[in-house]
Amino acid sequence: MKPSIAVHGGSGTLPSSITDAKIRIMYLNALQEALDEGFNSLKSNASALEAVTKAVCILEDSELFNAGKGSVFTSKGDHEMDASLMDGKTLQAGAVAGIKGIRNPILFAKDILHNSDFVFLAGVEAIEFARQRGYKFLPQSYFYNQHRYDQWQELKGTGEVKLDHSHKDESTFGTVGAVAVDNDGNIAAATSTGGMTNKSWGRIGDSPLIGAGTYANNKTCAVSCTGYGEYFIRGVIAYDVSCRMEYGGVNLELAAENSVNNRLKNIGGEGGLIAVDAKGNISMPFNTEGMYRGMKNDRTSFTKIA
Ligand code: ASP
Repeated sequence: MKPSIAVHGGSGTLPSSITDAKIRIMYLNALQEALDEGFNSLKSNASALEAVTKAVCILEDSELFNAGKGSVFTSKGDHEMDASLMDGKTLQAGAVAGIKGIRNPILFAKDILHNSDFVFLAGVEAIEFARQRGYKFLPQSYFYNQHRYDQWQELKGTGEVKLDHSHKDESTFGTVGAVAVDNDGNIAAATSTGGMTNKSWGRIGDSPLIGAGTYANNKTCAVSCTGYGEYFIRGVIAYDVSCRMEYGGVNLELAAENSVNNRLKNIGGEGGLIAVDAKGNISMPFNTEGMYRGMKNDRTSFTKIA
């Protein structure tokens, strides 16, 4: 069903606060806004790449999710963000890791795709490239939020890291992502994250890694993942979905289900993914209690958490 779009805002254990209808509605509304933005641009003939970028920007601007404005705190008390996107038509990709102060890391990843000779830039030198490209650098206060600060205070100085958790026994992976198919049947995927609370030593998860957290190929599917990044890297999960389709000849639903509920689960990985194929089929498997997610095309539109 073309055009179609799906978004996620992370997977994991559901925070107890989600039983509060007001809070649940806030999350669902933010997902809906991202779906609407992406879908409207697809309806006006934007490319899948453009649509996933727009949808992810909306989620990066919301402080509810662990990406952009809502990014978690590192061990040093700042915010290091990772993002990537891939165009299924051209197999071009852009990725960035460990950047600070940029409002929409996904726009920077897209800039790398279009305006550099490289796929993946990281750290201080990447920030220098952003400066040359004219990006504004926001003060740390833009990324401050009490909830994330409290999460960091629980871990500060312990050497422990946690995924975007709500309190000690809960873990929610608040990374955001989008996948889409446009009117021409081209597909794309985008993922953006603040990573793990209290992360140190330049830790980078799966989100900016093409093949692990993000992948797109018109021949198969576009995939954006969320969950415990180290397992997605080791299982090369986004590419695994594509390989099952390309070499195994299975359909999107089966491929995505097997990647999450067999391959990922068998190595101890928790999380989920959203995926779309060039016909507009969408699959959103997860092996956690919930995944903030939604999809929209001309026939169906929904947002869900559990
Ligand atoms: N996959 C992300 C990471 O490991 C976390 C998430 O999905 O929230 O950095």
